[in-house]
Amino acid sequence: MFQKEEYFVLILGLDNAGKTTYLEQTKTKFSRNYKGMNLSKITTTVGLNIGKIDIGNVRLNFWDLGGQEELQALWDKYYAESHAVVFMIDSSDKERIEESKEAFDKMLSNETLCGVPLLLLANKQDLADCLSVPDIKTDFKGSAHKIGHRDCSVMGTSALNGDGVGEGIQWIVDSVK
Ligand code: GDP
Repeated sequence: MFQKEEYFVLILGLDNAGKTTYLEQTKTKFSRNYKGMNLSKITTTVGLNIGKIDIGNVRLNFWDLGGQEELQALWDKYYAESHAVVFMIDSSDKERIEESKEAFDKMLSNETLCGVPLLLLANKQDLADCLSVPDIKTDFKGSAHKIGHRDCSVMGTSALNGDGVGEGIQWIVDSVK
């Protein structure tokens, strides 16, 4: 039997950004036998949610880590094993954009992640009055010099209704291979 190419993907971002919903949506879309949870009943990640999906010959293993301030201290324990990072932003929460940027900058300044592909997701695009993808790009512009030489993309998503989730996963597959 042929061996799958196996990769590890971290899903990071502040609590309430939509990380758990994104992982559930991903498993529902890409795992044939996965029945899924009721997405509207998901509550914020306190420990670690894991999931895996297979796309062709590629297996993506996801680690969705808790985003509360005290749990952010644990993120770097996973950096050495990661092949890609999804950083999720709640585009509807303008009051926490600065906090989100600080967590993002702190993550980027860790050298272990140097060169690891990075997907920024502007989540909750289904909500009226949320920040658009260009708005988020402008807000995060100050961090651009820290991104360095790596694949990086910013995309809009709605983890709740699934918009943009497939495109993001395809981007990860193309970047890690
Ligand atoms: P986490 O703390 O980052 O894991 O966030 P959760 O996945 O627990 O989501 C936090 C809240 O945001 C929940 O009430 C979700 O239903 C909601 N949520 C997540 N993604 C979206 C989205 O794309 N659109 C909307 N409207 N709500 C979302």
